[in-house]
Amino acid sequence: MPRAFAQDNNGRYLTDGLSESQFIKVFNAVNREQANNRQSAKNTLRPRALKRKSIEDLVKLGKKEDGTAFTADDLKRFDELRKKFRKRTSGSAGITYNELIGSSTEKDRKRASNTSKDGLGIQNAAMIKLERGNVVIARVQASSRSVHQEHRVRIQLLDWAEELEEAEVSEKGYQKAVKNACRGSLKIDCDCGRHQYWFRYMSSVGGYQYGRNLEQAYPKVRNPKLIGTACKHVLKVAQMLQSPIWQRKLAKQMDRQATQVGFTDSGKGSTKTFGERDQKELSKNRSTVITEAQHAKAQAGFERYELRRKAMQKALKGKAGKNLQDSLSKIKRYKQQADKAQQQVRQLKQKLANEKRSALINQIKSNVDFAVNTLGQSRDTVIKGMAKKMNKSVTDIEKLLND
Ligand SMILES: [Zn+2]
Repeated sequence: MPRAFAQDNNGRYLTDGLSESQFIKVFNAVNREQANNRQSAKNTLRPRALKRKSIEDLVKLGKKEDGTAFTADDLKRFDELRKKFRKRTSGSAGITYNELIGSSTEKDRKRASNTSKDGLGIQNAAMIKLERGNVVIARVQASSRSVHQEHRVRIQLLDWAEELEEAEVSEKGYQKAVKNACRGSLKIDCDCGRHQYWFRYMSSVGGYQYGRNLEQAYPKVRNPKLIGTACKHVLKVAQMLQSPIWQRKLAKQMDRQATQVGFTDSGKGSTKTFGERDQKELSKNRSTVITEAQHAKAQAGFERYELRRKAMQKALKGKAGKNLQDSLSKIKRYKQQADKAQQQVRQLKQKLANEKRSALINQIKSNVDFAVNTLGQSRDTVIKGMAKKMNKSVTDIEKLLND
C-alpha cells in the first residue's frame, strides 16, 4: 500500500516541519491506523469477559505483570473500579481542569513540566487550530527519548456554547467566558501510547474521551487500579490553555461565533488554523509548567466539588429525599422554561445587534463612497480619518467594509 505521508523505517511519522494543515492530515491518518490496529488486538479484557469471569476467559487474558494468571477476584475488583469510575461524575460528561490536574500522577505532571529527569520530559506545545467551534488542536513535541517526533492533542471545551451565551458582549466578556470554559468540563484525546494503553479506557468509561475511538478493554496490565487522568501531552496543553495569551486568541473566535445567528460549531469563527503569525504571538505563553502549588489548588478544588456532589447524593437518598427530588424536578422544569425564554431574548438581542452592525457598515460604506466619488478624496485618507474618528484601527475599518 502506498504511504500517503513520510514515515521512516520504523513507521515513525516525520511530522517535524510540516505546516499546520499537513500536520492535522497526518494525524487523522494515525487515528485511522490506530483504530484498525485495535480491531486485531489480542488478550484484551472486553466487557463480556469482565462480567462473565469464566475460566476460559481468564486463560485468554494472558499473564499479569508479575507473571501470574488473572483470577476471578481480579476481574471482580476491576469491575467494581469500572463501576465506581463511571459513576464518579454522576453521569455528566467531561473532566474539569481541577480533576484532570488534581488527580493526575506526579510522573505525568513532571514529564509535562519537563522536570522528570528521565529524558521523558516535554518542552513545547503549540495551539494550531480551533475546529467544530470548541475543539482545540495542539501539536506537542515528543520527548527526546520518544520514537515519535510530535503528538496531536485534542481538547474539547464542553462549556464553550453555554459560556458564549452567558458572556457579556465585549472583548473582556468573551475572554472571561473562554477562561471559564478552559477550566470547565473537557474532553481529551492524544495519539500517544500512554493515552492509548493507560488512560483511554478511563476517559471512555468516564465520559471524557474526545472523538470516536472509545476503548472498551480494561487496562488490566498497564493501569489495573485506574490511576491518573491523562498523559503528559494532554496535561501540558490543558495547563497552557489556562494562559491569557491562548485564551485571548480563542476569545476572538468566540466573539466571531457570537456575531452569527446560526450554530457555534459551524460557520463563522468555528474553524481557525493558527498560522505562522499567530504562532509568534501564541509562543509567548509562559504557562508551560504545572507547579506543585497549582496541583495542590486543583486537587483541593476537585475535592471540594466531590464533597458537594456526595452530600447532594446522600440528601437525595434520605427521608426528605423524595420531597427534595420533587422540588428539584420542579426547579428543573422552571429552569428549562426560563432558559427557553432567555434564549428567545438572546436571539432577539443578537438580531438587533446584527441589524445595528449592518446599519453601521452601510453608513461607513456610503460615507466612503461620498468622500471618494463626490468629494474626490483618496480612499486611504478617508479610511484613515474615519478610523481616527471612530477610535478604531484602519484594519478594523477595512474589515467592516469587506463584510
Ligand atoms: Zn499523549
